[in-house]
Amino acid sequence: MSRTVLMLPGDGIGPEIVAEAEKVLHKINEKFELGLTFESGLVGGAAIDETDSPLPDDTLDKARKADAIVLGAVGGPKWDSLPMAKRPEKGLLGLRSSLELFANLRPAILYPQLASASSLKPEVVSGLDIMIVRELTGGIYFGQPRGVRELESGERQGYNTYAYTESEIRRIGRVAFEAAQQRGKKLCSVDKANVLEVTVLWREIMEDLRREYPDVELSHMYVDNAAMQLVRAPKQFDVIVTGNMFGDILSDEAAMLTGSIGMLPSASLNSEKQGMYEPCHGSAPDIAGQGVANPLATILSAAMMLRYSLGEEKAAENIEAAVSKVLDQGLRTADIMSEGAKKVSTREMGEAVLAAL
Ligand code: NAD
Repeated sequence: MSRTVLMLPGDGIGPEIVAEAEKVLHKINEKFELGLTFESGLVGGAAIDETDSPLPDDTLDKARKADAIVLGAVGGPKWDSLPMAKRPEKGLLGLRSSLELFANLRPAILYPQLASASSLKPEVVSGLDIMIVRELTGGIYFGQPRGVRELESGERQGYNTYAYTESEIRRIGRVAFEAAQQRGKKLCSVDKANVLEVTVLWREIMEDLRREYPDVELSHMYVDNAAMQLVRAPKQFDVIVTGNMFGDILSDEAAMLTGSIGMLPSASLNSEKQGMYEPCHGSAPDIAGQGVANPLATILSAAMMLRYSLGEEKAAENIEAAVSKVLDQGLRTADIMSEGAKKVSTREMGEAVLAAL
């Protein structure tokens, strides 16, 4: 059975980190005889430079046909002054909405080897293992109408719309309840139901779903409290489910609990389990081209792809074990560097994972 993986390096450090993930995938493909074939495409700023579009038809076509996608990151100062519709980020948002990748799974795991990298006290974070399930194709980032308009007074007003349909809430709720069933059976739904009607409905649907998953303990929390609890006592959480914007913010906060955003993978899935896999971080223009970026989040994203879209659990575990092994060996890129460790480049880290496979 031949399955296709589309590699989309994107911008900034994207090409450097995706190159390392691709090497790892080639090796794992051989080792486990997975029958994967690889394609590549342009997205984001790199695509704008070549084709004038952040998401060229050719890329969208390949993405639709692929079984899974590995993406680096998009964006950078070079394209920041373009009109909103032509920005690199539109490429990413376009892929998410065209493929209906509505469920974003972002684990925040603290590797014991990196406990000192967290800005919180080790006793607060050691053993941390949270999964944030973020709705990705609805909410305020996509709601219509939106724009900047001129009021009768002559003053300009910016506006966006925060809306969720019942079915959008239900399908993300199911993904989260199922994730909780496979983990610690605790689900916390985060909303702002004291102020926003859309999240009153969100809470109602989550309560409704509770009956279908009696083994999962459901709780609710306002987003401002959740932001606080994540730094006060993060280990109280198992799975968190929330909307697009709150999830965007909380998952970055959770990422920092683990010390480095350079360690965290993510998966975005649709109802057919087709998925796009990318590191949680951005294109890091400040370090692009220097060979110092941490490729582990992208390599771990490739492992998530094997697990969630391709059903290759053993191959996924092999990659995760190899990452853990290189950390045990004391190898660190600059972002996770600590005293006594050996500093390595992006490529050296990729090579070390290859050797550990
Ligand atoms: P960023 O995640 O790119 O960088 C934040 C900080 O983390 C920087 O200091 C950077 O050097 C560091 N960092 C990030 N990834 C790293 C890695 N793998 N190894 C070592 N250090 C790493 O966020 P930002 O600076 O807010 O955004 C930069 C650009 O990325 C912007 O154009 C933004 O729009 C874009 N962005 C893209 C995505 C995406 O493609 N999914 C996500 C977020 C931001």
